[in-house]
Amino acid sequence: MQGFNVAIDGTSGVGKSSAADLLADANQMIHLDTGAMYRCVALAMEEAGIDPEDESELQSLLDTMKIRFEGRRVFLNDREVTTQIRTNRISNLTSRIAALPAVRARMTGLQQQTTAAGGYIVDGRDIGTVVLPDAAIKIFLSARPEARARRRYDEYRQKGIDADYDRILEDIRQRDWQDSHRSTAPLKKAEDAVEIDTSDLTLDQVVTAIQSLIDG
Ligand code: C5P
Repeated sequence: MQGFNVAIDGTSGVGKSSAADLLADANQMIHLDTGAMYRCVALAMEEAGIDPEDESELQSLLDTMKIRFEGRRVFLNDREVTTQIRTNRISNLTSRIAALPAVRARMTGLQQQTTAAGGYIVDGRDIGTVVLPDAAIKIFLSARPEARARRRYDEYRQKGIDADYDRILEDIRQRDWQDSHRSTAPLKKAEDAVEIDTSDLTLDQVVTAIQSLIDG
């Protein structure tokens, strides 16, 4: 297990999570998918019918909810939610509730606690800027919205799911806008992060580029 952390930030659908999974396996590190944590908050809020304006209800949900990972599986209060948190509805809701300062404060604290001893590949939006400003390696992945929409479209089609390319592209643009225009921890590249444009790269090429930074 490595004693340092790697921060991978970037926009939706840029391949952060897939790259982080492969890099974690190759380096005997653990992948912390912070997007999945925010998705769990959105699902928990939706299920409990919590109004984001009601600060005390939201705070008590944040203080009591339990998020746990088992490999690639995600558990919310000991119930598996791995696929439930990936629907389009939850993606859009997540992007909205992720702007709430109470949600960000709680998630940032949990992420810092979890990674304190090092050994994590952490993917998200604000890892290099807010959660782990001292991470040994910081990567910022970018890609044209059209390239990301095409990948997601192909992924759905491969799984036999009906998909509409224009709708996917529109959702991606909307989430990009929400993630980069919110007042709390907006998505932005850390000054000392290495930017990799993945538009015309395969996943293997992205992983190789990051691995060479890890190897120094
Ligand atoms: O990475 P993923 O697409 O699963 O993240 C879902 C949403 O969670 C993002 O659109 C973003 O709004 C939010 N998020 C965040 N900060 C993070 C990770 C995710 O605001 N570190």
